[in-house]
Amino acid sequence: MRRLLMHSPIAVALLWILAYLLITLLPLVVMVLHPAPSGRGFWVEFSVALGFIALALMALQFVLTARVNRIESSYGIDILLQFHRYTSIVAFLMVLVHPAILFITQPETLQLLNFPQAPLRAQMAVLATLAFLAMVITTIWRKQLKIPYEPWRASHTILAVLAVGLGFGHGLGVGNYLGYFWKAVLWSGFMLGALWLILYVRLIKPWMMTKRPYLVEEVIPQRGDVWTLALRPYGHNGFTFNPGQFAWLTLNITPLSMREHPFSMSSNGDHPERIEFGIKAIGDFTERIKDIEPGTRAYLDGPYGVFTTELYWDTAGFVLIAGGVGITPIFSILKTAAERKDDRPFLLIYGSKSWDDVTYREELEELKEKLDLEIVHVIRKAEDDWAGETGYVDKDVLEKYIPRHRGSRQYFICAAPVMMDSVERALFDLGVPVTHVHMEHFNLA
Ligand SMILES: Cc1cc2nc3c(=O)[nH]c(=O)nc-3n(C[C@H](O)[C@H](O)[C@H](O)COP(=O)(O)OP(=O)(O)OC[C@H]3O[C@@H](n4cnc5c(N)ncnc54)[C@H](O)[C@@H]3O)c2cc1C
Repeated sequence: MRRLLMHSPIAVALLWILAYLLITLLPLVVMVLHPAPSGRGFWVEFSVALGFIALALMALQFVLTARVNRIESSYGIDILLQFHRYTSIVAFLMVLVHPAILFITQPETLQLLNFPQAPLRAQMAVLATLAFLAMVITTIWRKQLKIPYEPWRASHTILAVLAVGLGFGHGLGVGNYLGYFWKAVLWSGFMLGALWLILYVRLIKPWMMTKRPYLVEEVIPQRGDVWTLALRPYGHNGFTFNPGQFAWLTLNITPLSMREHPFSMSSNGDHPERIEFGIKAIGDFTERIKDIEPGTRAYLDGPYGVFTTELYWDTAGFVLIAGGVGITPIFSILKTAAERKDDRPFLLIYGSKSWDDVTYREELEELKEKLDLEIVHVIRKAEDDWAGETGYVDKDVLEKYIPRHRGSRQYFICAAPVMMDSVERALFDLGVPVTHVHMEHFNLA
């Protein structure tokens, strides 16, 4: 069994799913094994079961977002966050259906909605539902509501703690089910686990990061409004990483603050003594990178991510597709492969706004001397004398360059969301197996 888990990422991923299902359904199992003597009929029991599953799902959200490396390395952060979003919506629907069943089957319970007169347990349920509703609305429509990322993230944590804490309080207040020793033990375990994860992620981990600081070595301007931020570990050995992975970066300010941003490492994964990031100026944090002074303290939480060629040592070669700053993880992949003298073929299809905007243009040319590397630049606004590909990286361009035997390579895409979607669709149309396509999204929320 251990051997299987060590050698099969799929087995590990399946095991996590099994553990997730078991934990979600555990309250139901305990409920069935030790039923409360209520005799209140199927619908009431069903409503209570929904409430418990919703609470378990909500408590498990803290695990999904705690950046547990072992879980993250099985799925990748994109998939985990997608799962987090969908299961939150499922939990929210259950939270709504849970009282709705009671209101329909026992109309007298509608009185519990009279908030000032209602008992504390009902008030807690109403407040928990409102906190949950606020979370769902501010997450789905964050951009439309123009809520900046950091305040959103802080309020998301507070609302989540409120929703779960009040939901638990509601369950305790009702007492019928949680009044029994083992059920109270189970739920207290859930709540303590969730609380521990919050403390770990927000306080303990940042505090541990202060023990492993980095110093900014230099900030180098690149083409395409991108700056290379080079960091050197200070008083420790840094970390090696799989080329293509990313880390959460906190600069200058105390790591206890929430200002940490994810960036892919752009340097060679085998060189922990100098870790580089290629950062495009697009907002209030990234605009400040160019002004960072050498010697500034930085903190890193990483490496994370499964967007790496490392897992495909047995493949015949790679097709790398980048758009704009999406080149950063791919640059790391190529630099690492060059130094390791990887002799497999690499094809890079790289979309940029203009020839002058091609980030790492000269460095990529140099890599051609060390690697079996073909580069196809696709320039959106090309000069008249440009003889290469123009426009967007579309199906025609892909069909022209990718190998005839589609399944012989692994495909890695990192670009703006629109380009990622269209390239993914085009590759699918061209017969590239979906299992061979790997994507890194730079927008998490
Ligand atoms: C896995 C991953 C790897 C990335 N690698 C790179 C890279 O190599 N180079 C690069 O230039 N960019 C990269 N990004 C994008 C980078 O994280 C954002 O551009 C940056 O955080 C924007 O911050 P801002 O305050 O300057 O801009 P804002 O205008 O505040 O934010 C723009 C958008 O960036 C996202 N964002 C902002 N703050 C955060 C945060 N603290 N955490 C998560 N997302 C946030 C939100 O979607 C937001 O809408 C990566 C993102 C991810 C998820």
